Amino acid sequence: MADQVFTFDVPTEIDKTVLGGKGCSLMQMSNIGLDVPPFFVIPCQTCVHYMENQSWPVDYEAKIWAALKKIEDATGRKFGDSAKPLLLSVRSGARVSMPGMMDTVLNLGLNDESVEGLAKDSGNERFAWDAYRRFIQMYGDVVLGVPHKNFEHILEGLKKKYSAAQDTDLSAEHLKECVAEYRAMVKKTINEEFPKDPKDQLIRAINAVFDSWTNERAVYYRNMHSIDHRWGTAVNVQSMVFGNLGQTSGTGVGFTRDPATGEKMIYGEFLPNAQGEDVVAGIRTPIKISDMESVGGVWPGVYKQLCDNYDKLEAFYKDMVDLEFTVQDGKLYMLQARVGKRTAAAMVRIAAEMVKEGMITEKEALLRQEPNKIGELLHKTFDPKAVRNVVATGLPASPGAGVGRVEFTAADAEARFNAGEPAILVRAETSPRISSVTMSQGILTARGGCSSHAAVVARGMGKCCVAGCSAVEVDEEAEQMKINGKVFKRGDWLSLDGSTGEVIEGQLATIAPVFSENFNLILQWADKYRQLDIRTNADTPADAKQAVAFGAQGIGLTRTEHMFFEHDRIYSMREMIVSETAEQRKAALAKLLPFQRDDFIGMFKALEGRPANIRLLDPPLHEFVSQEMDFAPLIKATGKSEEELRAFVDSLAEANPMLGFRGCRLGMVYPEISRMQARAIMEAAAEVQATGLEVHPEIMIPVLNHVNEMEAMRKLVADECEKVLAEKNIKVDYHIGTMIELPRACITADKIAEHAEYFSFGTNDLTQTTTGISRDDYNKFMPVYLDKSVYPFDFFQRIDTEGVGELMKMAVQKGRTTRPGMKIGICGEQTGQESVFFCQQIGLTYISCSPFRVPGARVSAAQAAL
Ligand code: ADP
Ligand code: MG
Ligand code: MG
Repeated sequence: MADQVFTFDVPTEIDKTVLGGKGCSLMQMSNIGLDVPPFFVIPCQTCVHYMENQSWPVDYEAKIWAALKKIEDATGRKFGDSAKPLLLSVRSGARVSMPGMMDTVLNLGLNDESVEGLAKDSGNERFAWDAYRRFIQMYGDVVLGVPHKNFEHILEGLKKKYSAAQDTDLSAEHLKECVAEYRAMVKKTINEEFPKDPKDQLIRAINAVFDSWTNERAVYYRNMHSIDHRWGTAVNVQSMVFGNLGQTSGTGVGFTRDPATGEKMIYGEFLPNAQGEDVVAGIRTPIKISDMESVGGVWPGVYKQLCDNYDKLEAFYKDMVDLEFTVQDGKLYMLQARVGKRTAAAMVRIAAEMVKEGMITEKEALLRQEPNKIGELLHKTFDPKAVRNVVATGLPASPGAGVGRVEFTAADAEARFNAGEPAILVRAETSPRISSVTMSQGILTARGGCSSHAAVVARGMGKCCVAGCSAVEVDEEAEQMKINGKVFKRGDWLSLDGSTGEVIEGQLATIAPVFSENFNLILQWADKYRQLDIRTNADTPADAKQAVAFGAQGIGLTRTEHMFFEHDRIYSMREMIVSETAEQRKAALAKLLPFQRDDFIGMFKALEGRPANIRLLDPPLHEFVSQEMDFAPLIKATGKSEEELRAFVDSLAEANPMLGFRGCRLGMVYPEISRMQARAIMEAAAEVQATGLEVHPEIMIPVLNHVNEMEAMRKLVADECEKVLAEKNIKVDYHIGTMIELPRACITADKIAEHAEYFSFGTNDLTQTTTGISRDDYNKFMPVYLDKSVYPFDFFQRIDTEGVGELMKMAVQKGRTTRPGMKIGICGEQTGQESVFFCQQIGLTYISCSPFRVPGARVSAAQAAL
């Protein structure tokens, strides 16, 4: 593959791993009959070859010239010609889109002779010299490594000298002067003449695009999005078309639907008399495509054709398409198309509406959802009742509610983020340093449209962005900005509404989100196809309520220990811990009982009849005490001296608490603790059931190792439960099961299942005990391991299916041999997409995750079932 060149005239298999995304789209568009300037594609494999050998495959250059000949023939122009020169664009294009991360060179093939040819042929001398100027600037920057600002400096100087307000006010003569100065500056900077030979220009440009695969931005982007560094990029060499030939020409970008909201509309922007990156780079603020008709001249015709192309592209891609086009003298050319990036809201709306339009099926709609992005839809929005002090309005480039303190540089925004404070990044223009977008609450730019890099990147990351807000005057040096006369300094509070484009002074209040009709539809479809139940981890009634609102079918894990830290319960807890006799311990526990009962009453009510899996006390007791705590209450309650108490606290210390006196071992040694908890659960259940609500408590024994522990704990807990039920003369549907979090429990799951009615995998501890890695200590080596690919990923973020997963499989299989159809869930933190697939595969009953992940998990589970 590496030694091939793919030309526009030979139909080839559309394969992104070969042609890259951009190359595929060029091939596809010419296949469906859209006008695309002639091109050839150098495949990704050639880039890989180049990276490995620092050279091209044998005889590759000859193939390039043969392909170039085809473009010359198709266009009737000649590369480097002094009469009718062919100009080229050299464009990067990897197999996944990396907007703005790699390089493109336009107008290649110009030199002192061909520029004259271009001038004569176009009858527009100014245009020709402007193209030449742009070429030297772009090529100088991308290929020769001359700083961009050196060029800007010269251009600005000339504009001042000739009192030109804009670039377009410079005449052909001025531009000739500019080219001369550019060339002199280039020579001075790199100690080398600007290359004159067009072939030489092309070869170096191709290599520069290869090299841009490994530039810092691109590498960072790939790390962020887990893209393979070995793929390489394709290079697309294409005949140039010109959007800067006057008012009947122009350039633009569009989307077949609004990428922020998903609404079906003719969305996009264009700039008349402009070329290349002018729209994306946000140099001038563009005109909406939907207003194109009213511009008059050739534009109503172009608009019609564009609408037609929108339909053709959507019909072909069956998805929202992001497209780039250029109009030369009234003729429309398509330069790129791809499935567009979108916000979570748009992702949901587009998929749901395409199902309604009959374009895709429900299953396809579900498979297109990115479960991790669904979390964005659960984020807060501005409180509609809050008073908005709007200081300016820009373009609503990426929705969301951003509240933070103003910063003017990427570095400052990142520093503020690292200091734990929210930042709003304000920029005059749009420079895509992605890390700063990740770390900001929102982005505000003075220039640039909805297609500017900042906007694209913000949308991709679910960050709010207001773009092209011309009222904003940034003074980076003074570290302040003026908005309609009002001064904002670094650190001042600002709120951005990415849905309306409003810039709001101060910290606007936010509220919980509302689910759209389309979002509910997607979730309904997810519920229809998924087989796994989705439960939630919840320690408080508020969490449980939230999760139920998000669609949780019950609680998969309640950690009772959290309940002991609240208010003055901790004092009774400590009293219990320092008890010397069972009697003392029982007395302290009796104080805790009503608190626990109240907690459970709240949980059962919030669940409205759904099951609740409640884990008995798990952590070692010393976690509730410390030498730094206030000893006074304890001295008062126990009558012991401070020294005595301090010595006792010391005595609780363990060398390896994770493997120490915890979990069911506490209940085995101090049965009264487990009894108190079982009683609290059952009293609460009885009370709530008496109000007419259903209750289904599940009582879970933690850190279980041996069947004998299970048998003993089961007896103990059941005995207390039955006592309560007898006292109340009531029946409650309760179950006793265990957490499976030790390898031995997995291996002996068949025996344990004789006494456990259900299992729930605690994958955090199971991962620690299977891999022998302490999660609290792994920071010293895990980053190195991941860097060197010693481990394929962090086992605490994703289930290690090969190791831990095998034990889980064994436990499921053995458990169900003893107890067919046994309920088995998982309540670790590894409930990301890949882990959900695994859970489905090994036949779990449910997964349990934090409330805000419940909707995403519903979708993941559906995807796993499809
Ligand atoms: P990116 O991947 O950053 O979008 P592209 O390769 O698409 O880079 O090029 C950037 C811009 O250059 C395009 O949006 C388009 O306006 C311009 N461009 C690329 N190829 C051509 C061409 N053949 N003729 C005219 N303009 C072009
Ligand atoms: Mg592009
Ligand atoms: Mg555990």
